[in-house]
Amino acid sequence: MTTLQRPSSSAAESPTPLRVPYVIAWSGEAIEHRLLFAKRHPFGDVRLTYPDPRPSDWTCGILRARIRQNRRGQPLWRMLNVRRQWLAMLRGLCQVCGKTGRDPRTGRMWWVITETAFRAMSQDSGLTNAPPTCPACIPESLAYCPQLRKNSAVYTAAGAQPAGVLADTFTPGPGGTAIHTGHNVYVGFDEFARQASCLALQMVVRLDGMRLEPIP
Ligand SMILES: [Zn+2]
Repeated sequence: MTTLQRPSSSAAESPTPLRVPYVIAWSGEAIEHRLLFAKRHPFGDVRLTYPDPRPSDWTCGILRARIRQNRRGQPLWRMLNVRRQWLAMLRGLCQVCGKTGRDPRTGRMWWVITETAFRAMSQDSGLTNAPPTCPACIPESLAYCPQLRKNSAVYTAAGAQPAGVLADTFTPGPGGTAIHTGHNVYVGFDEFARQASCLALQMVVRLDGMRLEPIP
């Protein structure tokens, strides 16, 4: 997962205040929710759900973690807001400023790729759960996050297609209870059988036509 972390002590002395990136979660946005296994429809299969399910809880057939959008409380620097991460992936929005991550001149999208948030599929394609970072925000991201500066590379991609999710996984327990079995497990949008026992936390996209770029 790519997040901007708190600045190091030297960066903290900088007169420039650190922006809270668009995709970062805030403490006031958390929602406590119970999960259980039940039939979503009378003739459907038993699957993971909330006690009070709403149509908006499912996306692409997978139950998604509920979260508010108020940005109240304290920023949780190592957590992403599920809905803003999702929106950034679907619309190609910059994870820092929330504006488009697409280069208006070339139509390509900018990405800061890290080892932990990327799995190569071919020489110029791969899966990532990190949203784009626009050229204007890339220098700031690298300046404030020592890990990112050390273990990342800047790419543009010709396209980004939704591929799956990172999810918490569950198995049914006694009386329809949900027993937690895994965290941040990749589940593809074509893996229908596994989707019934997943709670989606982040969207994963497949980047195609990737090209290594200099830092803008
Ligand atoms: Zn930006």
